[in-house]
Amino acid sequence: MRKLEERSERLRALELAYGARNYDPLPVVLTHGQGVWVEDLDGNRYFDALAGASALNFGHRHPRLVEAAHRQLDRLTLTTRHFHNDQFPELCAELAEFAGKQRVLPMNTGVEAVETGIKIARKWGYEYKGIAPDKARIIVCEGNFHGRTLTAISPSSDARGRAGFGPFTPGFVTVPFGDAAALRAAVDDNTVAILVEPVQYQRGPRIPPADYLAHVAQICSVHDILLVADEVWTGLGRTGRHFACEHGNVEPDIYLLGKSLGGGIAPISAVVGNENVMDVMGPGIHGSTYSGNPLGSAVARAALAELRESDLAERSGALGARAAARLAAEAGPAVQQIRQCGLWLALDIDPAAGTARDVCERLLDSGILTTPASAQAIRIVPPLVTTTEELDWMLDRMLIVLDEAARHMREAADPAM
Ligand SMILES: *Cc1c(COP(=O)(O)O)cnc(C)c1O
Repeated sequence: MRKLEERSERLRALELAYGARNYDPLPVVLTHGQGVWVEDLDGNRYFDALAGASALNFGHRHPRLVEAAHRQLDRLTLTTRHFHNDQFPELCAELAEFAGKQRVLPMNTGVEAVETGIKIARKWGYEYKGIAPDKARIIVCEGNFHGRTLTAISPSSDARGRAGFGPFTPGFVTVPFGDAAALRAAVDDNTVAILVEPVQYQRGPRIPPADYLAHVAQICSVHDILLVADEVWTGLGRTGRHFACEHGNVEPDIYLLGKSLGGGIAPISAVVGNENVMDVMGPGIHGSTYSGNPLGSAVARAALAELRESDLAERSGALGARAAARLAAEAGPAVQQIRQCGLWLALDIDPAAGTARDVCERLLDSGILTTPASAQAIRIVPPLVTTTEELDWMLDRMLIVLDEAARHMREAADPAM
């Protein structure tokens, strides 16, 4: 474990002493961020290759987003939806237009968008399909990640994330991801929806076969069930398109959005769909105190405007392809496999070269922040505003670390070398 300077060590110890231990942070204490760069308490600079778990698609403190936030902070920050404010209505219209849908239901976090999508799908099933009370079923995919509330972990296949938290929410059926035939076989008269990530996040990117989403959409349309796309991670440019569903030429019934909708500034998430589905939510049955708040709405409006008026989604695809090509050519034997979808990569590390956590700590020492995607995979998720020069800076350093890891491997295999 790297040694921290005294002030940083004090803060780390403080968090470990008084903070709940539901994370295991890398030993670095950050104080500033700008674009793709962050700075720690001791003045060291790092390339942020995690980008707030894809919440920082626009980088740290994007000027347009910060200005929108400042302007709003100086006027009005919270109304609750018991009153109108002058930002939320505009956001609804702009986000609906952006997604090609009619209605926007705002929440705060990604998992609340998921929870809301599940509630809407169930109520739609009872009201529109006439399903008997409490019989609605939602199909999910093995290996899913939909957040950390009880309902979101109920259909999870992550044993560690579930252990000790039962009893769970019933009403889910799990099928293998990427397998349209298995999905078709799982549909019955009580099925109301399939909840799916177009590209899976957990251990991901896990990319399904090219025709998978189209098959899913077709099954949904034939059996009159809802296609609910969890695009909390993939949405808003990360995969090289505005929505990852575009890779399969598919329009889901419901988009679940979060993460970079709030530009890394204000937590805001949304469920976006058409009125025939969304209007099952009448007054007084669902909501959240901070939902639709003018601060989050103003930031999300700026984020959407930036996405519409820039080429960030195309850049995401081009930069991701560039990173994958360089790594494939130069990474050497420590990397067993490179997976890439837009500016979202995972490197599967040969166990002989160390664990993903080991590599992440070495990357940290060389000025790159990222985290493991699993025990042997490291995640590379730079902000979409990364320039080619910045990306190459990061890759140059990363390749040195991977080269050293490969050397350790060779030495371990042949100590005489
Ligand atoms: C991050 C994430 C969530 C949960 O979002 P939170 O804001 O952390 O609650 C849900 N689904 C996917 C695919 C995610 O990546």
